[in-house]
Amino acid sequence: MNSITERKRIYLSSPTMHGKEQEFVKEAFDTNWVAPLGPNVNGFEKELAEYTGASYAAALDSGTAAIHLALKLAGVKEGDIVFVPTLTFSATCNPVVYEKAVPVFIDSEADTWNMSPEALERAFEKYPLPKAVIVVHLYGTPAKLDEIMDICKKHGTTLIEDAAESLSSTYKGKQTGTFGKFGIYSFNGNKIITTSGGGMLVSEDEALIQRARFLSTQARDPARHYQHSQIGYNYRMSNITAGIGRGQLLSLEEHKRLKKAIYEKYREAFSDIGEIRMNPLNPEGDANCWLSCMTIAEGGKVEKDMVLDALEEENIEARPIWKPMHLQPVFADRDFITLCEGGKSLAEDIFNRGLCLPSDIKNTDEDMERIIRIVRGLFV
Ligand SMILES: *Cc1c(COP(=O)(O)O)cnc(C)c1O
Repeated sequence: MNSITERKRIYLSSPTMHGKEQEFVKEAFDTNWVAPLGPNVNGFEKELAEYTGASYAAALDSGTAAIHLALKLAGVKEGDIVFVPTLTFSATCNPVVYEKAVPVFIDSEADTWNMSPEALERAFEKYPLPKAVIVVHLYGTPAKLDEIMDICKKHGTTLIEDAAESLSSTYKGKQTGTFGKFGIYSFNGNKIITTSGGGMLVSEDEALIQRARFLSTQARDPARHYQHSQIGYNYRMSNITAGIGRGQLLSLEEHKRLKKAIYEKYREAFSDIGEIRMNPLNPEGDANCWLSCMTIAEGGKVEKDMVLDALEEENIEARPIWKPMHLQPVFADRDFITLCEGGKSLAEDIFNRGLCLPSDIKNTDEDMERIIRIVRGLFV
């Protein structure tokens, strides 16, 4: 085999553009809507709401900004407790700290790797009055939403869905992001669709979404002069960015189909290797398979770093599972609720043994075969 093609860079999950994006962007240039408002912003909000089934949406410049505004609109203030899963990206919980509120980390369950309903119950016993719960649908797999929603309802606590990784995933036929009081999506560079950077806040409550738009544009009072009665943010999505989003949305279902095919391909290719398990999918849902992940059984000859090293040597991008938040130096003094008292938590175990496989939808059959050959080579 030719050594140059052999070492072609294979990405974890890079942007996939189709050309329609540029038409929306060109339209924005042609009409001089080069601003954090305009027809693409309105259009993207409407089209994303239609796609997800959410009633209202506010386009923002990141998923993190969407989480921040969701927390503010949920009334989270200094000293308030917010329950967040420990196994996630830091952007889920950083905005809790922006508000000087207190994140309490919750362990995962084995069935979906998401927030454990049992550990969540335990957290409510210790902290009966959290201001909000943030649930994440990790790597696109829907969390146990029925159980988590029941618990939140029982305690009268606001549920925020961080669906940054799960746009297009459904749970019992309904889109993730539309179950909580608020849902957030991200369009960062490696997400299932991307605008280079961007986010969306969705809700069934029109007044709250209007307030999000108000806060995201510097909280200007309705006066001719510049008047402010509260602190605002510069979080609104630009009309250029939104144009990319409108174009990408047209390909979202195709991206999902390709992501699922990648997961299936890996699952089949590794099905005869007892030490390898793919990340779980929730049987109550239909995951977008944003990233295909695997864990390696303990006690065998292969460890996750060997797989990461072997792929990196061949110019193939893979990465570890998110490092749990309760193990992060910056959150060392925060509380963590787990059912695995004394032992290793579930999240830590997944982190220790797991990795994310290249899940780029532009991977060719040959690329997939190359990845699979390298991984298999370590085990057999
Ligand atoms: C990507 C991501 C975010 C943050 O979204 P940005 O648009 O990058 O700010 C939040 N939560 C999770 C779980 C993510 O993966």
